Amino acid sequence: MKMQTQPVDVAIVGAGLCGLMAGAVLAEHGQRVVLLDKGRSVGGRLATRRIGAGRADHGAQFFTVRSPRFGAWVERWRAADIVYQWGTGWSDGSLATTAPDGHPRYAVRGGMNALAKHLAAQGAGLGATIHTGVRVTAIEALPAQGASATGGWKLLAEDGASWTARTVVMTAPAPQSLAILAAGGVDLLAEERSALEAIQYAPCLCGLFTVHGAVRLPAPGALQQPDADISWIADNQRKGISPDATVLTAHGSPPWSATHYAAPDDAVLSRMKTNLNPWLDQDAVIVMGEVKRWRYAIPTALHAEPMLRACTPSPLYFGGDGFGAPRVEGAALSGLAIAADIAGRATSPTPCATTTIHPTDK
Ligand SMILES: Cc1cc2nc3c(=O)[nH]c(=O)nc-3n(C[C@H](O)[C@H](O)[C@H](O)COP(=O)(O)OP(=O)(O)OC[C@H]3O[C@@H](n4cnc5c(N)ncnc54)[C@H](O)[C@@H]3O)c2cc1C
Repeated sequence: MKMQTQPVDVAIVGAGLCGLMAGAVLAEHGQRVVLLDKGRSVGGRLATRRIGAGRADHGAQFFTVRSPRFGAWVERWRAADIVYQWGTGWSDGSLATTAPDGHPRYAVRGGMNALAKHLAAQGAGLGATIHTGVRVTAIEALPAQGASATGGWKLLAEDGASWTARTVVMTAPAPQSLAILAAGGVDLLAEERSALEAIQYAPCLCGLFTVHGAVRLPAPGALQQPDADISWIADNQRKGISPDATVLTAHGSPPWSATHYAAPDDAVLSRMKTNLNPWLDQDAVIVMGEVKRWRYAIPTALHAEPMLRACTPSPLYFGGDGFGAPRVEGAALSGLAIAADIAGRATSPTPCATTTIHPTDK
């Protein structure tokens, strides 16, 4: 594909939760929005995969709600039966029952990726354009034209396509966003660059296993052992997203995943199988296994605010789960904060700032 499309108001790099939330809200505000994602589908780390006759979440497993702002969205998703409460906490694998900690754990009907598809359809229905399979390789600042103080941005994709936009929103993990900026020679202030470089992520090795026979994980079908090598094991059938086959998801802990990240698939699967065995019936058999590697799985060092707006001549935003709060809720709040800032500036421009205050919860 070699094409240059009409200029848009906002180009969003990354159609994970952050980008999708920002895109849907901005489209609702009448902005012409394009979302570009290198993945085959939208969702990023909201990832669900078919394996044999079954289905498994292999990125985010569930989410919690701590802020009223995100809670209002989740209530709408629950009312539409997109999201349901899976549990109130997880066993650590011991016989003791884990006391609920007051935070419901939510999951998505059909798998976590279905939430991304829902948001993508919502954004598209409001006029946003979404391109998947598009890897953005560089963004370049365009020279100011005429009386305009800002020239906007040009985004270049690996396949030769390009887009121009007044505002760019970068939602990929910070190291990936920084690489895209470096390729286009975008100048950031030293403090902006170091704020972005300070955001760190832990990797995660994920194993998916199809099982013939009974699996006996504690209710409601998952266990969490933060200090063990394999820190999470979940039964996607009991979760309700894999009615036709038993598929287990296993996640290596951050240290274990970092140590074994480059190990061959067979070695990773074999080590994980050993950890699954205690939860399988004597005659149960693992008939299929596959590995998924997440280099940037969970942020371990965050930017304090839910977004960063660079002091570039044209508006340039950074967001995602590395900003403000981690995980699904943090990514959503970051997208909402960016959308609110862009929509607000469209009507009453304010000077740029490298950090912003959290938007007030409604
Ligand atoms: C294994 C694992 C388990 C997790 N478990 C949980 C959990 O149980 N609960 C929870 O709350 N959170 C969990 N998380 C974290 C949660 O998934 C993330 O916080 C959230 O999904 C991040 O959303 P995001 O939009 O910030 O980033 P992402 O989902 O990573 O989206 C960024 C997007 O940018 C795209 N992109 C990157 N580079 C380019 C490029 N050059 N061009 C175009 N597109 C590009 C990517 O394809 C991606 O779609 C987990 C994550 C992983 C990996």
